Amino acid sequence: MKTKIPIAEPLLGVEELNNVIEAVKSGWVSSKGKFIPEFEEEFAQYCGIRHGVATSSGTAALHLALTALGIGKDDEVIVPTLTFIATANAVRYTGAKPVFVDSHPDYWCIDPEKIEEAITPKTKAIIPVHLYGHPCDMGIIIDITRRHSLYVIEDAAEAHGAKHKGKKVGSFGDISCFSFYGNKIITTGEGGMCLTNDEELAERIRILRDHGMNPNKKYWHDVIGFNYRMTNLQAAVGVAQLHKLDEFISRKREIAQIYSSLLKDIAGIILPREMPWAKHVYWMYSILIEDNFREGRDELIEKLGANGIETRPLFYPVHSMPPYRNNQRFTVAEQLSRKGLSLPSSVTLRQKDIEYIVQQILFH
Ligand SMILES: *Cc1c(COP(=O)(O)O)cnc(C)c1O
Repeated sequence: MKTKIPIAEPLLGVEELNNVIEAVKSGWVSSKGKFIPEFEEEFAQYCGIRHGVATSSGTAALHLALTALGIGKDDEVIVPTLTFIATANAVRYTGAKPVFVDSHPDYWCIDPEKIEEAITPKTKAIIPVHLYGHPCDMGIIIDITRRHSLYVIEDAAEAHGAKHKGKKVGSFGDISCFSFYGNKIITTGEGGMCLTNDEELAERIRILRDHGMNPNKKYWHDVIGFNYRMTNLQAAVGVAQLHKLDEFISRKREIAQIYSSLLKDIAGIILPREMPWAKHVYWMYSILIEDNFREGRDELIEKLGANGIETRPLFYPVHSMPPYRNNQRFTVAEQLSRKGLSLPSSVTLRQKDIEYIVQQILFH
């Protein structure tokens, strides 16, 4: 095994290190300190939104968003079945029920045509997930939610900087949620953020993040909250990462272009698409391995692994896993999950790494 190419690795540098040193020297290592408001303000501004509330994870951000909107027992929340499990789990944490919707076959996010049939009198909100870096069709989704008076919580954990018709994801929902986990487009190690234009909602999220403590009366708790705070150490890394976000996105788009030019017109391989209204940020560069390809997807994963190339299958549809299993079928998501393969997608990939990966896929 000559090479070892990970599916994703972060790119951290001197600026991150210097910020962390500054945070350590300042003594502000928990959830006070200058980097937290700096990260919140700069990230919110990057997305064109007024308020940012940094959290301990993307999952915490989703849980806070749902709780702040008053969603709980007896409510239903529409989510795509093809997503990372945290989207559905956050709904469950509140006591509400996730109601699943199938994927669009071309760009894999929630299929807007199938949303309305999932709406019931109990539906309170929808969580569109900008999957693998491709935006959802927010125009149609916002239109549906206005007609049915539903809240929109964007799960933008995989799509920092992606755009729908020129407008950044994270700027469409009542609240939007991001993750800064180690394999996301930018990272704080663990971390997340809620964005909203609504000042009252932002304040409610801040209070819920800090044990439900009354901001004007120490140790007085009006509601049951959580400890979902981000630390100043994490925010120190986040501020530095944010300055590189546009560069990372350009590189991810270049990597996607190189993969696609090398893999195009190969029988049995379907390339990821970027819809005409979309700017895809390719958090992961993911392809589909059709049944007429030389070998099955799982064999290919194993073979690439043996050659030092780490790949991943797409997510399993949430409705197919034990905590959520029911007898519904979502054939598009099921097919995508069975055929999908994410290739190494780090911004640190070099041209020759990509050529090696493609060569291993095609000519082994
Ligand atoms: C990563 C991710 C999350 C959760 O973020 P964490 O920071 O890992 O808690 C939520 N939704 C999606 C779609 C994700 O990819």
